[in-house]
Amino acid sequence: MANKINTDVIVVGAGLVGLAAAITLVLQHKNVVLVSDKPEQQATTILNQDTWDERVYALTPATEAWLKTIGVWDFIDENRVNSIDSMHIWGAETDLLLSASDANIAKLGLIIENQQLMVALWQQVKKLGVTVVTDARCAKLEYSANEVILHIEPAAQTKVSQISAKLIIAADGLHSWVRQQAGILVDVKKYNQVAVVANFLTEKPHQNEAKQWFGAHDVLALLPLPNQHVSMVWSVSTEKAAQLLALTREQLCGHVQTQSQSLLGELKQVGQIRNAVLNQQTALNLIVERIVLVGDAAHQIHPMAGQGVNLGFRDVMKLAQLTTKLHAMQDIGEHTFLRQYERARKADMMSMNSLTSGLDYLFATEQPVLKKLTNWGLQQITRQPSLKKRLIQQAVY
Ligand SMILES: Cc1cc2nc3c(=O)[nH]c(=O)nc-3n(C[C@H](O)[C@H](O)[C@H](O)COP(=O)(O)OP(=O)(O)OC[C@H]3O[C@@H](n4cnc5c(N)ncnc54)[C@H](O)[C@@H]3O)c2cc1C
Repeated sequence: MANKINTDVIVVGAGLVGLAAAITLVLQHKNVVLVSDKPEQQATTILNQDTWDERVYALTPATEAWLKTIGVWDFIDENRVNSIDSMHIWGAETDLLLSASDANIAKLGLIIENQQLMVALWQQVKKLGVTVVTDARCAKLEYSANEVILHIEPAAQTKVSQISAKLIIAADGLHSWVRQQAGILVDVKKYNQVAVVANFLTEKPHQNEAKQWFGAHDVLALLPLPNQHVSMVWSVSTEKAAQLLALTREQLCGHVQTQSQSLLGELKQVGQIRNAVLNQQTALNLIVERIVLVGDAAHQIHPMAGQGVNLGFRDVMKLAQLTTKLHAMQDIGEHTFLRQYERARKADMMSMNSLTSGLDYLFATEQPVLKKLTNWGLQQITRQPSLKKRLIQQAVY
């Protein structure tokens, strides 16, 4: 690889969203360089058949369909994917059951492991021959009249020191270096919550149902995995998380069993227990000159809606929808073009922020009137099939 590269687009960050962005643009015959801070490509990582990744995602049917169109699904082992046929939500006094059959659709979504999705994306990157600069330490951004230049620090495996392009896609996650270099500020809402994540083998079958219990600033989700396993994401206060993380495996099983009303019988914890601090972070701008933000670099949302990576993939879908309309001589980093992306994506981001903040507020409220209204709302949805159908159709988008 040459010391200096010139290309159309640089994608910084080889997480799920960055990999998908590189694949999508290469499929449109754009010249793309993917810049990863990891030492090597991860395409060949073999999945361990006996264990399940603790980090899993609920993907919407729309995301699954899109991953098929960009060739990523060809590398997915369907035996390690679990469909979500129904979703059961419990509030303080009432519950709501949403089934795929209520909306005449095959499934509400599916659960997939982070590792499997990552490996599949890398395999497609490899198959398409995407140029990847690994082990890269980004050092500086510089602008010239018609391009942006990314300077990279010399490292053992990296001979490339400079990449110039019309556009940089920042897919470098929550603490995005590109976003900071571009001077884009973020709005942070602290939930003071931590997600405690673990997998369990269950005594009773989960019947492909995703279960969620909403309490005051406390959401327990048990998501169906193959072979009678479930993935737990328990979003709790920082103090409660510290208590849960100090428990023995057996004690944790007891707590989860009690909180989940023993609906899945006895639980046996398998694998590691992981945790992640939960904030809502929103970039105030999604574009500046020749830079566009996607994925967690642009937005972090509460995992209660299971939408984070779906939202990031929708950023890429939108960008690709716009870039495909560009004519051959048009500048992909042109500001008026990037503005279209920003306008389109802000609406989706804001509605996701409102949904997660609204749910958190409604289920946590101590106000008797609001509490009653929440319960009344859930009952109305249960009683009205057309309302249920609309809600499901919106959720699977
Ligand atoms: C507990 C929990 C549960 C979740 N559950 C769900 C769910 O069910 N469904 C869902 O849709 N979402 C879920 N999410 C959200 C989801 O995990 C994220 O939205 C998603 O992983 C973001 O992907 P990304 O590629 O944008 O960022 P990241 O995964 O953070 O990837 C960024 C990449 O950029 C690299 N990088 C960083 N800096 C640089 C640099 N300077 N140079 C080069 N590379 C760099 C990093 O190494 C990394 O590889 C959950 C999140 C949490 C915390």
